[in-house]
Amino acid sequence: MALSAPHPLDAVPQLCALATRIEGKGQYNAAKLLRAAADAMIRRAAYQGGLSTDLSGIGADLDDAIRILRNGAVGSAVVDALDRARKEVLAERQTMVSDFPDAYVCRRCGESSLGPPRDPCGTCGAWPTTFQRFLPIYWLNELDPPTALQYLHDTPLQLDTLLSGLSETDMARAPEDGSWSIRQAVTHIRDADAVLNSRIKLITEQDNPSLAFAAVFAWTAGAAAHAAGTDEIVKEYRASRTESLERLHALRFEDWWRTGRHDEFGTVTLLAQVSYFAAHELTHLRQIHNGCLALNRV
Ligand SMILES: [Zn+2]
Repeated sequence: MALSAPHPLDAVPQLCALATRIEGKGQYNAAKLLRAAADAMIRRAAYQGGLSTDLSGIGADLDDAIRILRNGAVGSAVVDALDRARKEVLAERQTMVSDFPDAYVCRRCGESSLGPPRDPCGTCGAWPTTFQRFLPIYWLNELDPPTALQYLHDTPLQLDTLLSGLSETDMARAPEDGSWSIRQAVTHIRDADAVLNSRIKLITEQDNPSLAFAAVFAWTAGAAAHAAGTDEIVKEYRASRTESLERLHALRFEDWWRTGRHDEFGTVTLLAQVSYFAAHELTHLRQIHNGCLALNRV
């Protein structure tokens, strides 16, 4: 089969098929480059298409997406679940894993199921345990414990560098695009660390505890009402982080794999939670950095 496509994106299925064929020859390092290239093309096209979070736009696009998927080859269980999720998204209700199990896709032929498949693939016969599981959140890749600890240690220092010399007026200024002020982003990472801290305590003191869903975004929206200055918020963040790190340094090696039950993400290990929070705050550090750029301070 010759690779030919009028638009580069149209080549993505062929690139993925080629990757599978190369993996069939045992050449995994060559195949990974094709997969990375295909992923890069898809993400670049999405980025160029705009990443607006306007709810009415998202609703209309979800309607279109579901219509396209119903006409296509994607299994109805996944599309039906997506249709239910659409209603939750539009009502601004959080989608929980009990209602929306992880999706599984046959790596070989693309057959999909909601929840782990029990039988071999109905299309190609692939073994059910070889299906790829789709977990929520794209930055949930686990770090190893020393790297996670290093991130958690370094981020407050990077924050100090970014904020040095900024006035309270600078930090409270709301960007014109409606995104958070620096002060709001700092409040958010402080609140997130409070959640992390309480979850470390819960998971280490109880067996597989329930981890209550924390709407940290909603707290942040109300942050402007708080009287404390940003310096004060940073100080609280640093104190909370010191406590989090003390708890983590006191862990036995096996404690990193203790689990909790999360309403949104299902069973999670302590390591996965720590990895998540360590990576999450870096996304807000970038937001703060952008805020500094807008103020011509970097
Ligand atoms: Zn299959």
